[in-house]
Amino acid sequence: MRIIIVDDIYINRLLISEIIKSLGHDIIEAENGQKAIEALKNHSPVDIVLMDIEMPVMNGIEATRYIRDSLSDPINKTPVVALTAHNPKLFFEDYKDVGFNQLLTKPYSIQKIVGIIKEFSPDP
Ligand SMILES: [Mg+2]
Repeated sequence: MRIIIVDDIYINRLLISEIIKSLGHDIIEAENGQKAIEALKNHSPVDIVLMDIEMPVMNGIEATRYIRDSLSDPINKTPVVALTAHNPKLFFEDYKDVGFNQLLTKPYSIQKIVGIIKEFSPDP
């Protein structure tokens, strides 16, 4: 699978990308929402976007809204998973209209990441 990791903190991207690469998937890294959108357009099809929330230039909320509202079909349907320390229930109450498909909560673990990848895998 091809997965975009969007986070402004290099070490966060490195941690997730090392786990995902060890599982045999392709990684594209982006440091803010704007770069994530460019990567999504340039590397389509992408299977999952892992999207941090707080980032400079364009945050994860703005970027996900843009993907859902302004990109063409089928790129606008790409699964977007929020990366956050936020309580999952409160997160979806606050951000349910943005268009996130799922949440990956910090601290990250291999088990959590494997679960997310399975959930959005094209082959069941
Ligand atoms: Mg951040």
